[in-house]
Amino acid sequence: MPIIRATCPTCGDVEFSPRLLKVMVCSTTGEASYGFKCPACELLVSKQTDKQVVELLVSTGVAVSFWSLPEELYEQHTGAPIGFDDLIEFHYQLHSGNWSELLENEMKNLSPHFGSEGE
Ligand SMILES: [Zn+2]
Repeated sequence: MPIIRATCPTCGDVEFSPRLLKVMVCSTTGEASYGFKCPACELLVSKQTDKQVVELLVSTGVAVSFWSLPEELYEQHTGAPIGFDDLIEFHYQLHSGNWSELLENEMKNLSPHFGSEGE
């Protein structure tokens, strides 16, 4: 069974089984990192790595998981950011007794910005 050697910032070089290491690869950017819990001090260690190291680790049986950046990063945001006055106004709308009606009217006004879905 192969043994992985990695460096813990507290303990220095430590050795452990590949099943205690996890590789994470971002499918959007290709960036990769690996993480493990130090067998000596139990510190969670995470380090960025490159494709060659990922391939080597996976070939020894290390589990790999893929993740991607959230779609919200590609949304275009327009208008001013939400401010303190907006929060106060929202607070009073919630306590007005007809907030669901107000929300419905706001959504009707916003619907052209969200395409044809729902209308
Ligand atoms: Zn350690």
